[in-house]
Amino acid sequence: MLTTPHFQLFYYPEEEDLARAAGFWAEEAFDELEQKFNHTLHRLVPLVIYSNHLHFQQTNTAPFMIPEGVGGFFEFVKGRVVLPNNGSMYDFRHVIRHELVHVFMYSKINAMAKLGGVLDPRLPPLWFIEGMAEWWSTGWDTEAEMVIRDALLHDHLLPLESLSLMAAGFLLYKEGQAFLRYFEETYGSDRIRQVMEEIYHHDSFEDALSAVTGKPYRELILSWRLSLKQKAAAARSRQTLPGSDAELLTRAGSNMAPTVYRDEDGKDHLVYLSLRDGHTNVYRQSLSNGAFPAGYHQVTWTGRDASGRAVPSGIPIARLVTPQYTKSIMACPEYGEGSCC
Ligand SMILES: [Zn+2]
Repeated sequence: MLTTPHFQLFYYPEEEDLARAAGFWAEEAFDELEQKFNHTLHRLVPLVIYSNHLHFQQTNTAPFMIPEGVGGFFEFVKGRVVLPNNGSMYDFRHVIRHELVHVFMYSKINAMAKLGGVLDPRLPPLWFIEGMAEWWSTGWDTEAEMVIRDALLHDHLLPLESLSLMAAGFLLYKEGQAFLRYFEETYGSDRIRQVMEEIYHHDSFEDALSAVTGKPYRELILSWRLSLKQKAAAARSRQTLPGSDAELLTRAGSNMAPTVYRDEDGKDHLVYLSLRDGHTNVYRQSLSNGAFPAGYHQVTWTGRDASGRAVPSGIPIARLVTPQYTKSIMACPEYGEGSCC
């Protein structure tokens, strides 16, 4: 067991490094959420971590086997947060933050209700609970943008209150996240806090949202959906077809998992996996020859591409990119190396 100022971490002995990372990220999230919720937790939060999903599925903190699709959970009985590492430290940190938003939200709603003399307060609907855990753990990201834009484009954005959304799983998280984003951008994060502070003395969650925003619930939902459509439409107006604005970097073999990285000299490279010689290998290819200072420069055509491989014969074309314009220059080898025609 490892104890940090606000957490007690439980783990198998061989997972100590992972537990230390979890402790660091949990404390980092604690400091942020304490301010966001304007609330603190008065007891150490038990954090049970597993180094992989198989161990997590067999946890005895829940009286049943955990399904494959569950990435972590917060249980109300003993207030424990239980989560596995799936191999990605980015996801691990995200799940820790996501679950801690649940812990803070649950504690805040209960604490406020207790002050008002209510012992068993109403909780917000699941889309709000999960949406908020996503919004206050990661903010907005390309994945959320992709899911929501796709739902809008193909017309399967589901009503927040619908049972179909409950059954839709991931979409419920993302629609909730999109609503919380709109809500915070429109009304401010203090209004999100206000919903949690006041929910216990309203007849319904919808009433609490209306009271906090001064807008009927239906109107609020319609305004949110309209704003989503306006944002998606604006993004589509700048869209191009896949590949239409791109440059082919290689035709050799089957290539996958491209990642761009910038080296210490500021030059961009593409690193990817390729099966071009029968085995999967990692390849690196320069994305540019880099920037040159203003003046006269001579580039020598070697007949090889940026990774040093001979390219098929043909007319080589050099591309000159400046902040003002881009120009393609055809180099003619018969007139001498590097000359132009
Ligand atoms: Zn959750």
